Amino acid sequence: MRCPVCAAIDDKVVDSRLSDDGRVTRRRRQCLACAHRFTTFERLDTQPVVVVKRSGEIVPFDTVKVAAGIHAATKGRPIDDADIDHLVETLEEQARSCPTGITTEQLGLGVLEWLAERDPVAYLRFASVYKGFDDPDDFQREARLFKTGSPSDHSDAET
Ligand SMILES: [Zn+2]
Repeated sequence: MRCPVCAAIDDKVVDSRLSDDGRVTRRRRQCLACAHRFTTFERLDTQPVVVVKRSGEIVPFDTVKVAAGIHAATKGRPIDDADIDHLVETLEEQARSCPTGITTEQLGLGVLEWLAERDPVAYLRFASVYKGFDDPDDFQREARLFKTGSPSDHSDAET
């Protein structure tokens, strides 16, 4: 870290402590050239992954909701859960790499493209509800429509 006084870049850490909530490491450094002491803060580099709704509202990318919609569309179809998990990870990465977030439309299309290559039935199920998507909640809401279980079957536990 460049010394703010003499601009030398060699320093040693003379003290290091964690903030109370454990999210920040505070380091007290001493310049090896001029002995000036200064402080640096280290934080985890995280950016929330977001989805942009058609209304422009920005909401967090919820992997559970997205996965629920895909699971519902592929229920009883020969598609591995692990493959779905991988798709959700891929979509999340896509959203993460886009500084303005992924739109619900892009998200839905991403799922459709993926299903198109794998299973026509699941594709049609998903396509039939995709047009109305405006919110990640829709993945979950529509997911219930696919479920053919008894009315009391609201459990998402599909192991
Ligand atoms: Zn210095």
